[in-house]
Amino acid sequence: MTTTASRANLLDLSPADAERVLRDFAESIGEQAYRGSQTVRHLWSAPAASFQAMTDLPLAFRTALESAFTIPRLALAAEQRSVDGTRKFLFRLHDGQTIETVAIPDGDRVTLCISSQAGCALQCSFCATGLMGFYRNLLPSEIAGQVRELALLAEPVRPTNIVFMGMGEPLMNWKAVQVVLTILNDPKGFAIGARHITVSTVGVLPGIQALAKRPEQFRLAISVHAPSDELRRQLMPVNIKFPLEQVIDAAASFSRRVTFEYVMLGGVNDQPAHAVALSALAKRCGAFVNLIPLHPGGAGSYTPTSPEGIKRFAGAIARQGVEVAVRKSRGTDIAAACGQLRVERLRRRAPRSPNQDGEVEVA
Ligand code: SAH
Repeated sequence: MTTTASRANLLDLSPADAERVLRDFAESIGEQAYRGSQTVRHLWSAPAASFQAMTDLPLAFRTALESAFTIPRLALAAEQRSVDGTRKFLFRLHDGQTIETVAIPDGDRVTLCISSQAGCALQCSFCATGLMGFYRNLLPSEIAGQVRELALLAEPVRPTNIVFMGMGEPLMNWKAVQVVLTILNDPKGFAIGARHITVSTVGVLPGIQALAKRPEQFRLAISVHAPSDELRRQLMPVNIKFPLEQVIDAAASFSRRVTFEYVMLGGVNDQPAHAVALSALAKRCGAFVNLIPLHPGGAGSYTPTSPEGIKRFAGAIARQGVEVAVRKSRGTDIAAACGQLRVERLRRRAPRSPNQDGEVEVA
């Protein structure tokens, strides 16, 4: 039996690559190549908890797979359920890192909010994940694995929509995220329509360009949060590296519809002048504006804008001819905002020094 280190993790590969590897492997041990294709089904579309659980494969083949490959699980460390049906999962990774996944049911839809990094380097002033600092990028198996684990529950959760709005900055982990996008969308993966998959970013320019080059209709959401460089720098230090103007230009040249995310911070970014300036930016790139009520329990000492204040702000944007919606706050009783469950569990554990420049890996 080979050691774990030398066995390839099939869940880090796109379905097409995994299929190629598995068909070759089957032939190399004198099995029919189609056994390899049969195995791919059990990675994502009809996930199996282990090779032994792939009971439509001959026992000897399952054992051979086991000696050559791995399909590691993520350990479920905690689950919380909100009165509104939102469920929050905390997964523990092999090195002890913990990451969050949130499932948000809404009518016939189930939106899964997934994490792309353990911690985050960006330190947005209102965000709980930013507080903990950056630990490491997740592997494709750890990002897509969040979706896989929910499909493996006794009562499987099958998402209709995916948003990269959990912990981390997906476009600072493009190397893994690009594979995950394929796994999510591929008919041999989770077969979720590209228009139902949204990558949310602070505006990492090389990452936006890489996403724009993908032929699939993946959605892009930009965390704008302030309509001027001056204010945005205060809220989001990353604005020094990727200034608002350039982020808006990148959004404008993105061929698909873009969403602006705008968290409502009382007395900070919620004044009438902000609404007018934000509308002008949205018009420049035909963006849809999503106003997010501040989730309590983030970072900093902000006060949420009142519901009436948010309504007024939305009205001011609509009057400028820009499409706007107010996001429903979900799971507030279970600390379901970005990073909050992990922070609750890890309070005061010192993070590794945050890598402010966060490597951008564009393959
Ligand atoms: N790094 C990416 C994705 C993760 S955060 C990004 O910034 O877009 C997903 C969204 O949640 C972002 O818009 C982020 O600004 C927002 N967010 C973070 N903390 C929040 C809080 N306490 N209340 C409301 N939204 C928050």
